[in-house]
Amino acid sequence: MSALPRTTPVNVAVPSPRLFIAGAWVDGEGSAEVAIVDPATGATLAKGRGASPAQVEAAVAAAARTFPAWAAMPAYERGQILRSAAAKLRERADEIARVMTLEQGKPFAEAKGEVLSSCEIIEWNADEGRRLYGRLVPSRASNISVQVVHEPVGPVAAFTPWNFPMTTPVRKVTGSLAAGCTCVIKPAEETPLTCLALAKALEDSGLPPGVLNVVYGDVNAISQQLLDSPAIRKISFTGSTRVGRMLAEQAARALKKATLELGGHAPVVVFEDADLENAVPAIVALKYRNAGQICISPTRFIVHEKVFAPFLERFNAYAKSLKVGPGLEEKTQMGPLANGRRAAAITSLVEDAVKAGATVASGSAPDGGNFRKPTVLSNIPMTARVMTEEPFGPLALVNAFKTFDEAMAEANRLPYGLASYVFTRDLATAQRATAAIEAGMVAVNSARVAWPEAPFGGVKDSGSGSEGGSEGLEGYTVTKTVSLAW
Ligand code: NAD
Repeated sequence: MSALPRTTPVNVAVPSPRLFIAGAWVDGEGSAEVAIVDPATGATLAKGRGASPAQVEAAVAAAARTFPAWAAMPAYERGQILRSAAAKLRERADEIARVMTLEQGKPFAEAKGEVLSSCEIIEWNADEGRRLYGRLVPSRASNISVQVVHEPVGPVAAFTPWNFPMTTPVRKVTGSLAAGCTCVIKPAEETPLTCLALAKALEDSGLPPGVLNVVYGDVNAISQQLLDSPAIRKISFTGSTRVGRMLAEQAARALKKATLELGGHAPVVVFEDADLENAVPAIVALKYRNAGQICISPTRFIVHEKVFAPFLERFNAYAKSLKVGPGLEEKTQMGPLANGRRAAAITSLVEDAVKAGATVASGSAPDGGNFRKPTVLSNIPMTARVMTEEPFGPLALVNAFKTFDEAMAEANRLPYGLASYVFTRDLATAQRATAAIEAGMVAVNSARVAWPEAPFGGVKDSGSGSEGGSEGLEGYTVTKTVSLAW
């Protein structure tokens, strides 16, 4: 066990977890207890109760009641409210980031970066609402105009996980609101405070009461209730493939639309002509961002045998150099895992891989509590669980390949298809690889796949539908054909 300091600064006020229903901040009246636990110390920072069934019903009723007026508000005016909320979040970024670090564990700088980059997503969505163009179809009748219009689908139920407590709620809440939908969001029970800060910024920006509602508590009961509510017309979920599949089945039975952002096991193909010095460091750094708890985290490094040794050497040097510690400490570059489940999972996956014959290049041993070392495994046999299970932690897998086809077969071996990365200086190789890889996103010579202006989403078991870009708002709309005769 290491001697990492595990103190939490006492000067950070952690608000109590409350609910936001029909424009009122209320205490939960449900049976489930909600505890905000600092993953760095294990200390309980605040406690509250989750929503009762009556409170969830009130949230849905508020979203249904306010939908017609919100949908009828000009997109420009809705956008002004969203833009104002982004400005408020920027002003409050330090305060919100401290709370995010305490409830989730990521380093303060990452938390603040998440708040600031989320503001750009809000602004994109705000303006994209003004661009939800329909079209005029050339009519085959001289007295009939055929129009296609996009209308908001109705009240939305959004479910968000604990790894990006601001970005994911922002994508769903401001995407749905910009399109003219109202929303009931259920943030992860472990990290509701950051989502509540988003709701507060929207409230302070003049969002009409009831347009956004925040409930959480008994996860299974609340999501079941939301999915069973006829008023809810669409669900948007980010989280594991296991839960996504379950919710999608329930949504399909009720014929509700669904957008699903699920797990990944991202391949990184490093060809022999890759620029190891300039291009590769960013992807290595991305591995340990948010302690690897990112759905687009680079995981399977598939490296040409000719550059395998120098690549591994650089990777190890970087992993060993990272300063691991509590997120509010200034020098920390990687925080603890967000909860005991992930910490235990990483230990178990590493032990299993080592037993299967993998080599530990760096890291591996638990670092105490929820802390884990940045770990690199190499020469991992396919029988190791981690070669098929998403690690969702600070664990990199580095194996060698010989031929292009072999690399592509490995990249596409798993049912996942979210992010993927390719490193080569050769344009033809880049072109062939981006065409061959089955993924919703592919970055070449870069670690960046997520942009507010571009769709973010996966294929195969990584989900369906997109957030971001113009595609993002489409998911919150239905299409109406208007044939207007005179
Ligand atoms: P989990 O499968 O229990 O839950 C995943 C997420 O779904 C959590 O946010 C949880 O609050 C939510 N959830 C669980 N049951 C739900 C329900 N009935 N209705 C609505 N939401 C529900 O696993 P976990 O331990 O929280 O996370 C571990 C795994 O989840 C990771 O290995 C990773 O694969 C996946 N995950 C993915 C993302 C992502 O960004 N795609 C985020 C967080 C977790």
